[in-house]
Parts: sequence; C-alpha cells; structure tokens
Amino acid sequence: MLLLRLTLAALAFVLVGCASAPLGGIRGIGGGTADPRRAQGFSLVLIDAGHGGQDNGGQGNGLREKDLALDTAQRLATELRGMGIATAMTRDDDRFIELDDRVALANRRAAEGAVLVSIHYNAGGRNAQGAMTFYWKPNSVGLATHIQRALVGEAGQNDMGTIRRRIRLTRNPEIPSVLVECGFVTNAAEAARLGSPEFRQRLARAIASGIRKQYYEGDAGIPPVPEIASPLSRASDRKTF
Ligand SMILES: [Zn+2]
Repeated sequence: MLLLRLTLAALAFVLVGCASAPLGGIRGIGGGTADPRRAQGFSLVLIDAGHGGQDNGGQGNGLREKDLALDTAQRLATELRGMGIATAMTRDDDRFIELDDRVALANRRAAEGAVLVSIHYNAGGRNAQGAMTFYWKPNSVGLATHIQRALVGEAGQNDMGTIRRRIRLTRNPEIPSVLVECGFVTNAAEAARLGSPEFRQRLARAIASGIRKQYYEGDAGIPPVPEIASPLSRASDRKTF
C-alpha cells in the first residue's frame, strides 16, 4: 500500500512537471489544431499560383486558369495553416511572374526547409477531365503521389496520374517541387464543378491533406524512383506550364 502511495505521488509529480514544461514545439503555426507528430523532411510549403497578370493560362467555359489557380492557392494556404503547417506564396494577387523567377523564389526558401507546390488548371480536348500531378526529382515523388491520391480519393477527381516530367517548376528548383493540374476548364462538365467555390474548397482541402500526409509520414510506403541525370529545363523546351 505504501508502495502504491509512493508510486501515485511520483506519478503526480511527473504530471505536474509535464504541465509546467514549456509547450514549444507542439503548438501549430497560425492557431491551428496541433498535431503531436513530428514533421518529416520539410517545414514550409511555398504555394505557387500558376500564371497571373497578362498570362491568363488555359481558358474555357468562361473560366480562366489564373483566377482558379490563385483562388485555390489561397484556400490551400488557409487549410495548411489550420493544420499547423507554415506556408508562403509566390503571388497573392493577379500579377505575372516569370517561371525562372518562381524558381528563384523557391530557391530563396531552401534554407527554411521548403517544398514547392504549384497550382494549375488544365486546358485540352473537350473530353479530357481529371487531375494529374507532375514531379521530376526523386525527392518529390512522395509529395506528388500523396497529393494525387488525395485529389482522387478525397475530392473525387478522375485520376490522370502522378507523372514524372522534366519541366521548369519540377526540375529546376533546389527544393522538392510538384506541379498540380487540378482539372480541365475545357471540359464542360468539369468546368461546371471547377467554377464552384465549394468545389475548389474541396480540391484545396484534398491537396492540403496530401501535403499533410507527406509532412508527417514522408516517403514511407512510396516506391522510390531512380535519379535521372538531366539538364535544367529551359524556356525553349517543347512544353512549359
Ligand atoms: Zn498552367
């Protein structure tokens, strides 16, 4: 009995000790719900809204890619901050930024442990619909895979794949980088959904969910891809985004 009492006393002391300890490290940034798990591999998400200013991006069914991309990027930032994940944005209004300048903005965040997530909408044939996520570097395949899975599994987008492609925003930044094509503005049925703020919120939430999975679980369960020696992507390359 004495032993038990001593044990309880010791336990009470430990609990008091814990309660008075500084809480640094488990409080989320921006007042969001803290997740007690530790981040794996990155500490900041640089969100890049594609196109902007004089560059409308893809257009169809009364929608402009630059508007949808900015709106989705802003929603994504809010979602991530709510999860306690720090964010920054390459643009937060309707302005044009050269692709190489976006790469430079990404590289400037390398010391902060950033990853780049570029948000786009697609234009193509009338029948094409769904989401696809591009990456190039082996250190970006997990992030791309988790985002794509969430867009399909949580937002219900048609799965057009996690695609390895060497483009400026996947190849050139020094930090892990992915480019997300959320859906096609040129498909009438998909455009009807993409035009709805509620649906874009759903897309943003899914992208945030994929990022959160990578944030806490890293590449666990993701088949690795080999490094491919390749030159930097340039404007003269066949296709740019
Ligand atoms: Zn685009």
